[in-house]
Amino acid sequence: MNEKSYKSTCCYCGVGCGILIKEKSNGQILVEGDKDHPVNRGMLCSKGMNLHYTVMDKSDRLLYPQMRFNRNMPLEQVSWDAALDRTAAIFKTFIAKYGPESVGFYVSGQCLTEEYYLWNKLMKGFIGANNIDTNSRLCMSSAVVGYKLSLGEDAVPVCYDDIELSDVILVEGANPAWCHPIIWRRVEAHKVANPHVKIIVVDPRKTQTVASGDLHLDINPGTDVALNYAIARVLIETGKIDAEFIENHTEGIEAFKEKVFEKTVSEYAKICGVELQKIKTAAKWIGQSKGFLSMWTMGLNQSVIGVNKNLSLINLSLITGKIGKPGNGPFSLTGQPNAMGGREVGGLANMLASHRDYANPVHRNEMQAFWGGGAISEKPGLTATEMFQALADGKMKAIWIVCTNPLVSMPDANMIERALKNAKLVVVQDVSSKSDTTKFADIVLPAAAWTEKDGTMTNAERRISYLNKVVDAPGNALPDTEIICRFTEKMGWGDKFSYNKTEDIYKEYIKTTENTNIDVSGLDFEKLQNFGTVQWPFTKKMSTDESSIGTERLFTDHSFYTASKKARIHSVPFQNQSEQISGDFPLILITGRIRDQWHTMTKTGKVNKLNQHINQPYVEMNPLDAKERGISDGQVVMVTGTRGEAKVKVILTNDLKKGNCFMPMHWGKILNQNFGRANNLTNSLVDPRSKEPDFKYAVVEISKYEKP
Ligand code: SF4
Repeated sequence: MNEKSYKSTCCYCGVGCGILIKEKSNGQILVEGDKDHPVNRGMLCSKGMNLHYTVMDKSDRLLYPQMRFNRNMPLEQVSWDAALDRTAAIFKTFIAKYGPESVGFYVSGQCLTEEYYLWNKLMKGFIGANNIDTNSRLCMSSAVVGYKLSLGEDAVPVCYDDIELSDVILVEGANPAWCHPIIWRRVEAHKVANPHVKIIVVDPRKTQTVASGDLHLDINPGTDVALNYAIARVLIETGKIDAEFIENHTEGIEAFKEKVFEKTVSEYAKICGVELQKIKTAAKWIGQSKGFLSMWTMGLNQSVIGVNKNLSLINLSLITGKIGKPGNGPFSLTGQPNAMGGREVGGLANMLASHRDYANPVHRNEMQAFWGGGAISEKPGLTATEMFQALADGKMKAIWIVCTNPLVSMPDANMIERALKNAKLVVVQDVSSKSDTTKFADIVLPAAAWTEKDGTMTNAERRISYLNKVVDAPGNALPDTEIICRFTEKMGWGDKFSYNKTEDIYKEYIKTTENTNIDVSGLDFEKLQNFGTVQWPFTKKMSTDESSIGTERLFTDHSFYTASKKARIHSVPFQNQSEQISGDFPLILITGRIRDQWHTMTKTGKVNKLNQHINQPYVEMNPLDAKERGISDGQVVMVTGTRGEAKVKVILTNDLKKGNCFMPMHWGKILNQNFGRANNLTNSLVDPRSKEPDFKYAVVEISKYEKP
């Protein structure tokens, strides 16, 4: 049977595995790992292996634009013109009456780079506010700030090939065995081939990642900075720091030493709840290593002190000089497939294209001149949680939500529900009708999904890839770029958003990168389509070398992106700032993900094979806590907090310490009538610098469920 084969990239996590999509002549789609891809070398995890089901199954797809004229009426099918005319008319009215800050876009780390670029251009260059933020705010904004403060730029210095060149891997606040499985398979294979390699895992829970590690530092939630200080102190005291590197390539060591020596290692160990000897062992392994790689995700980022946690971990690479060398460096793993691409084009409320800063007048003028729109606002844009709070308070009137389901994924979900009810206009642009957020939409716009449009994405190691269009979108669904361009015509800016194909948008974007630290001005679409993937920077000069595949790792000359060219060692407080447990709410709730589900399950939830892993929400609890409350394994319990409650099955386990409990974040109302939405319980506290929420620390109580 004839078949066509297309290259693409997995649309789930930030690992960015290469995929071959095979289309048979009977229309059937097959998906397999791309053996030539440098990231996954043919491997796929359970989610990636089942991608073809999500492509083939169109039963949940939004097929045509819908609109309702008031909240008491059902949504009705309308034409694209009718939907976009109305959206534009309301946007114009609000902008004229209340100013450009009265409207906002809330987009997604699953948007392609070209889409992200256009949303950003539209809001900042033409509407005149900075109110565009993304669900990537919920997963990696603390790492962005951490990198900027320490290395001078939001620039991941390492690559996946550093895994096989390292001999100590410290995983802190991450469960890659479940959440970045292909990375973890590479780590495990490296360990099998090289038994001397040491894997240290820092996590309050005994996760699957811990199971394949050598040393588990079972930290108390929120105490990562204290732990990293303890390790740093041992490294300093045992002379395992790199004095020459510190002297020539860093700033801040004296203040750091003073800060770290405020407590003894034993005192830090007590704060963290980790055995002193384990901390000493970790420090010894790091100090002796030739290749020290640290990896982290949400356990550090999703915290009210997320930036401090990032800085304290990056410090370990700086004081040991283990950065800018093969097998060494701090590596933040991104959650979403294109969180990195969104950062590149400035798809966050505080950024402009190519990592420019909206607060910098030179950067604003550059982008205004480039886009040819109005003045770019110097007022800070609203970040994810701020945007929904502004809707709840009536300060913002309209929100356009793209490819994300905030009613399930945002903290304090009941507040999000109030915000959506209070909004004067909610536009939801999505692929699936299974998003809980759609229930609150006044206008629903059907979007093309993965494989139904082309464009680029960037994975966690700065690797840009091209995604082919394979099939047509069903019904009247359109690619996001076309929806944006049609909308801008209605707004009167069509001439500034006139593109014939995705490549035109890409070409416009890469011009903005010229002479910046993320310069990809030498990377033409053709090279990506024909050659494969390239890591940024990829300058015009590099493009003259046909064999160049970009920049594997950064800072190999130990010249950082700060003004002084030196990396900054930061001294930050080690104390946590989360809400406090009390008599009424004595347990700390940690939220997270499970192996076979993705975000709010609008894609993975419809694949039977994936649902077989874990098919309902639950709370994990220590047996000692359960005994005190007369709760037994498997019972239905109520988890209550100050903001809401969730009814779920309890699993008793010694995989977490007494006083802690865990719930997965995937389930909302649509997929679970029993209502185990974890984000009913989480809070809106955010890190003051990154504005990333404190998802890993909410105070709750658990009790037996009594039928009303
Ligand atoms: Fe997709 Fe991530 Fe799995 Fe790779 S590891 S197949 S990118 S979900």
